[in-house]
Amino acid sequence: MISIDGAEGEGGGQVLRNALALSLVTGQPFRISNIRGKREKPGLMRQHLTAVEAACAIGQAECDGAAIGARELVFRPGAVRAGTYRFAVGTAGSTGLVLQTILMPLLRADGPSQLVLEGGTHNMAAPPFDFIARSFLPILNRMGPRVEARLVRHGFYPRGGGRIEVDIEPAPLARIECMERGALRRVCATALFAGLPFEIADREIGAARKVLDWPEDAFGVRQLPPELGPGNVLLLEAEFERVTEIVTGFGRLGVPAERLAKRASQRMAGYLACPAFAGPYLADQLLLPFALAGGGAFTTVRPSQHSRTAADVIALFTGLRFTFAQQSDGTHLVSA
Ligand code: AMP
Repeated sequence: MISIDGAEGEGGGQVLRNALALSLVTGQPFRISNIRGKREKPGLMRQHLTAVEAACAIGQAECDGAAIGARELVFRPGAVRAGTYRFAVGTAGSTGLVLQTILMPLLRADGPSQLVLEGGTHNMAAPPFDFIARSFLPILNRMGPRVEARLVRHGFYPRGGGRIEVDIEPAPLARIECMERGALRRVCATALFAGLPFEIADREIGAARKVLDWPEDAFGVRQLPPELGPGNVLLLEAEFERVTEIVTGFGRLGVPAERLAKRASQRMAGYLACPAFAGPYLADQLLLPFALAGGGAFTTVRPSQHSRTAADVIALFTGLRFTFAQQSDGTHLVSA
């Protein structure tokens, strides 16, 4: 049985999610200790438990020890079955992270699947729906499968109540190389808000304009029905020929709108200034599909601890080793 120390490397929930996905795909059971060992509140939270339950449901798996707060569990995978599934996180926990757990296994199933995922759609420290739909899935679909995600209802912390639907048509994943992003086609900055004063979104846009030298009509605010709130995110999007980068600033009580907008804008400016294909989040999320394709290559900005840890977990289950090599143009080549 594969043994994982969940406190190693990044030491967050991604270690567990990648292990669940890889276990279902390779048929190897695993034991994980120190789950989310480097997080402020270690152990399984509601959204991680939902990910484990979802993995059990799609993969006829057995799991010992899965409970809120648990720091250790043993997972024994069965056969993955395509189907129609609904998983509700029950809190504002991220639907995107539940999807991360079960998407790759369902791409290996013997038929199409339909998912309904309920919970948060725009959560701190998780891929927001827009990132999944416009940044991650287009690259995955280039590898062969057809995966389409729809946002039915936004879900913000702490209320939750969001809903996404995902249609999955599996196909064997093909190796691809993503070295260049191509020409810039469109940029867009949107401050989304619900149940909060318009002025918050307006201040975010003002701060973003100071950093990003984008055309006037690239900036806008979007008000959602107040009953979805309170909620606020700033989405900064740069669409290139071959990849779309989305940087998100998450509005939060106590964090001034200007500060989160400035930080997000600086991160976007940093990405735009470097010729790399993948931003830091896309990079760690591409490793799993690339591994299941037997390898591949892409360029990225400086590799995050999430990426290095994902590569370690992948090596444990598959033996495939990604290397990270700095290039003369400042990008890093990730390949296997
Ligand atoms: P963890 O911190 O271990 O729970 O993992 C968080 C996951 O969410 C990683 O796969 C990150 O790439 C992803 N993630 C976190 N923040 C963002 C963001 N702003 N945009 C896209 N993905 C994100």
